[in-house]
Amino acid sequence: MDESDSRPALCPSAKAEPGAAVIGVLGPDGRVGYLRDWLEIDQQFIDDVSREGRPEQRYRFANNCVEHHCAQWDGCKCTIIERVSEALTPIEEHSLQPCAIRTACRWFRQKGPDACRLCPMVITDTRDEADAA
Ligand code: SF4
Repeated sequence: MDESDSRPALCPSAKAEPGAAVIGVLGPDGRVGYLRDWLEIDQQFIDDVSREGRPEQRYRFANNCVEHHCAQWDGCKCTIIERVSEALTPIEEHSLQPCAIRTACRWFRQKGPDACRLCPMVITDTRDEADAA
């Protein structure tokens, strides 16, 4: 964990909205593969990929962590990665996948490499069509 990085933290499971960035794509194995460089998105990108379904079910987006403006913030940390770590077993990999946001990632700052061994199993939007309607 790079404690010396003083940049504002980034949420690694953000909504698709203009100004956010694609950091990963869900693969056929149901796990997220990460881009070496993030790709900032605009409304055109969102419109294009939304034709195939909700973008947060197939991509992972990063955006600024808004801390107390987010329902997942408990006052000092993001509760999502804490709950994920209780529910899932980390992938056993000796080396971490490259990730474009690692030193600024909120989850990495909280849990270090363990977060990156859970992160590929996280799908931001798990609602089914009926829930989303
Ligand atoms: S938890 Fe790790 S792999 Fe996932 S977005 Fe953060 S730094 Fe990248």
